[in-house]
Amino acid sequence: MTKKTFCRIPGPGETRACIDPWIFVYVRANGDVDACCRGVTIGNLRDKSLEEVVNGAEAIELRRQVLSGELPPGCVQCATRPVTTVEKLGAMVEHLVYEAGFEEQEDLRRQLREHCEVRSDLLREREALGDHAATLEKLLAETRAHAANLERERPHLTGHIANLERERAALAAEPTRRGGLPRLLGLLRGWIGRR
Ligand code: SF4
Repeated sequence: MTKKTFCRIPGPGETRACIDPWIFVYVRANGDVDACCRGVTIGNLRDKSLEEVVNGAEAIELRRQVLSGELPPGCVQCATRPVTTVEKLGAMVEHLVYEAGFEEQEDLRRQLREHCEVRSDLLREREALGDHAATLEKLLAETRAHAANLERERPHLTGHIANLERERAALAAEPTRRGGLPRLLGLLRGWIGRR
């Protein structure tokens, strides 16, 4: 059912003489952000930041609708703004944008967005480096444990090496012992011959 209104409804080529969607926000206790005091909601602060809301798709669409005269029902019935032509509102908004330095603000917002993106990239990199550091920390702990094991085995290995050294010395002496036997037999033969 169409709500009764005592104001004139904009006709073709007409719109509301309203610049609220460019200059105004109304924040409700539940976080709703309205583009004017007539309850045209463009977002909620529980979901997005104020900047995201005022530059969001709903806010942009509302500005487009008001500028083009394709008004949403709330604006069609609005009793607080008179009817004007689309051209006049366009000129008002253009004047507002240049006079208020909105272009400059838009440029600052663009720079802010770029900084935010760089910051997001840096945060992502920091996260990746954090993962990498955790992996390195784990590897370091494993290496330390391995080194401790080797340290524990060192006396055993040292004893083993000493045993091997002794065996090598014994093997090195073996030919001498083998060479000593013929010499001993020769001595024995000489001693028997003399008798
Ligand atoms: S409802 Fe009225 S005041 Fe609100 S944006 Fe629409 S025209 Fe403007």
